[in-house]
Amino acid sequence: MSADELIRKSAAELAGLLAAKEVSSVEVTQAHLDRMAAVDGAVHAFLHVNTEEALAAAADVDARRAAGEELAELAGVPIAVKDIIVTKGQVTTAGSKILENWVPPYDATLVTKLRAAGLPILGKTNLDEFAMGSSTEHSAYGVTRNPWDLDRIPGGSGGGSAAAVAAFEAPLAIGTDTGGSIRQPAAVTGTVGTKPTYGGVSRYGLIALASSLDQAGPVSRTVLDSAMLHEVIGGHDPLDSTSLQDPATGYVAAARSRDLKGVRVGIVKELGGEGYQEGVRRSFEESVALLQQAGAEVVEVSCPSFEYALAAYYLILPAEASSNLAKFDGMRFGLRVEPTDGPVTAERVMAATRGAGFGDEVKRRIILGTYALSAGYYDAYYGSAQKVRTLIQRDFAAAFAQADVLVSPTAPTTAFRFGEKLDDPMAMYLNDVATIPANLAGVPGLSLPSGLSDDGLPAGFQILAPAHEDARLYRVGGVLERLLTEKWGGPILAQAPELEVAAR
Ligand code: GLN
Repeated sequence: MSADELIRKSAAELAGLLAAKEVSSVEVTQAHLDRMAAVDGAVHAFLHVNTEEALAAAADVDARRAAGEELAELAGVPIAVKDIIVTKGQVTTAGSKILENWVPPYDATLVTKLRAAGLPILGKTNLDEFAMGSSTEHSAYGVTRNPWDLDRIPGGSGGGSAAAVAAFEAPLAIGTDTGGSIRQPAAVTGTVGTKPTYGGVSRYGLIALASSLDQAGPVSRTVLDSAMLHEVIGGHDPLDSTSLQDPATGYVAAARSRDLKGVRVGIVKELGGEGYQEGVRRSFEESVALLQQAGAEVVEVSCPSFEYALAAYYLILPAEASSNLAKFDGMRFGLRVEPTDGPVTAERVMAATRGAGFGDEVKRRIILGTYALSAGYYDAYYGSAQKVRTLIQRDFAAAFAQADVLVSPTAPTTAFRFGEKLDDPMAMYLNDVATIPANLAGVPGLSLPSGLSDDGLPAGFQILAPAHEDARLYRVGGVLERLLTEKWGGPILAQAPELEVAAR
């Protein structure tokens, strides 16, 4: 099989070929490394590439398979990991200058699980600094480009992971979603992204943005691939005190469902309509019609407090982030800058380090967060935001009494152009109106491509389920994907223009 054919296979297909010994993991891994060498100069999905380590891991899987060892289903299928997840012995920067060249002394739990299951790690993907952003333009290491149109953003903060998968540089990737950073990049790149229930995938080894919202999850090209990867990385971890006891099982079976008989699908009134691009809305409605065709019962639900979700999020997130980022002080790890004028005191080193190491968006949020937490304003801002959070959770509870899953467009628009929203933080924040409520309530969500908008770019379809019911995402997503594939005569990603293959 040619390298070009290999990189276009889904993870499930690659797993099948590997199990049948039709290809080796070294061949599959090398094919992706070659693709990275050919296109990543243009896309810039990766911050660090692990050529030797990935090939060694692949050779190890091949040897164990040859020896007849029983292997995990995805053994030998390579993967990319967002660079906010720590990898032992490999640089991890969180997209920030403050961690430039920082080499973590340990692996995140999910990385340990990937290694144990035999997935070679191709490299670490680009992101907005500390996962703050919706376009990857806030990375300290340059932008990632959307493979559909290199003048457009790949979403954020996990634009690197989504672009790597959309550009066939990796069949799978890991993202993190604090307010939409797995789902929104998936939406604008025509890929699939899942944010598990809060606590469903261990946070141990994720460089924290907002601890009560952060959740790692799968990025892939098919719903089944997300389900397979979710089963690998999910499950209880004693190293994370908020880790759930739920076993991460049943997702793959759910993704193989054939119909939606008896499934109640709720359209969230507040996540649509005004502010949503016409073509995104149309694509959403066409997908809802397909769900109905598959036997689902469609109802409309109202979640009135969602109107305040963005405001509450931009108090809670900066508050938690300002506390989490306090550890980057030039004393413990990463960058250390000594002031060139005046005395070198601890306080002045911290100020110089943070001044030089953090970008504008990070500074903006630290200032917002410390302000919201300051003595005189705590109740008015942080306290009110927490109350709104409770109201949003109640809205979800009421909606899930009427429907098994909720649906909406994932993002209000398709991929925008570089620079379009960079100077207007509010415009940037509005990209996440539809994804943020799930993080505030801890419920799981999945985005899959629903078709093309009028501008020829992919639109995302979001499915939300109650906490612990992640399997429902895969059931509904799996059926919808099959119907959409029939409608489009193949995967929606196949509509993307061929990337100019250029040397790095
Ligand atoms: N775009 C959102 C933000 O800037 C979401 C970030 C995320 O999920 N990490 O906060």
